Amino acid sequence: MDRTADLVRGWIDTSTRIVALTGAGISTESGIPDFRGPQGVWTRDPKAERLSNIQYYMSDPDVRKLSWRSRLDHPAWTAEPNGGHLALVELERRGKLHALVTQNIDGLHQRAGNSPAKVIEVHGTMREVMCMACAWRGPMQPVLDRVRRGEEDPPCEWCGGILKSATISFGQPLVPEVIGRAMRAAEHAELLLAVGTSLQVYPVAGAVPIAKAAGARIVIVNAEPTPFDEEADAVLRTPTGRILPILCGRVARTA
Ligand SMILES: [Zn+2]
Repeated sequence: MDRTADLVRGWIDTSTRIVALTGAGISTESGIPDFRGPQGVWTRDPKAERLSNIQYYMSDPDVRKLSWRSRLDHPAWTAEPNGGHLALVELERRGKLHALVTQNIDGLHQRAGNSPAKVIEVHGTMREVMCMACAWRGPMQPVLDRVRRGEEDPPCEWCGGILKSATISFGQPLVPEVIGRAMRAAEHAELLLAVGTSLQVYPVAGAVPIAKAAGARIVIVNAEPTPFDEEADAVLRTPTGRILPILCGRVARTA
């Protein structure tokens, strides 16, 4: 295990184009539950998934009211980036991070200090809202303030349309330009570092075979097995907040 970590650390030291691919597992250590994963809140309670299903959201005002209330209470507003997030900032500081593709919507990579230009949010961001009618986008907090002041389902101030967090809900298509950017980044990676993702959600998981075919080393850091463990050059099961600082250079040596 320590040998694997040392090996990966050496690869990272000599790489200049690393693409990180992150999922819920990197944020659970900041207290944000995993909603979509195999052990996720929605997976175990399909009723909860309704709140994130675009058909229900668009057709049922009660679903929207519940959604706004759960947005108010979301743990991401008070969550702090953990050692895993900070290690990826260190990777960028060292000039090694080509792109950071994330399935997370919590914005913690940017909060930790990664530049927004490096972060590709394939499932969107909960820190912004968008109008489903006129496509207006804006910051989330002023709309949450409207909810706090009593608007249970605040409409778009420009057109009266339905507002929603700027995330990809179930039943909503991914944004092709964003996915395209993520896959192009994978093609150009020297090393792909998949962190805290079960690599079961496509097309994002497809970044792994794309990077591999382009000659990149594949490193997987995840608590559970993934479908790509066999093709990976290294697999680590250590909690991400502990191992990433070791791999990415914030800690001098394996503790
Ligand atoms: Zn609008």
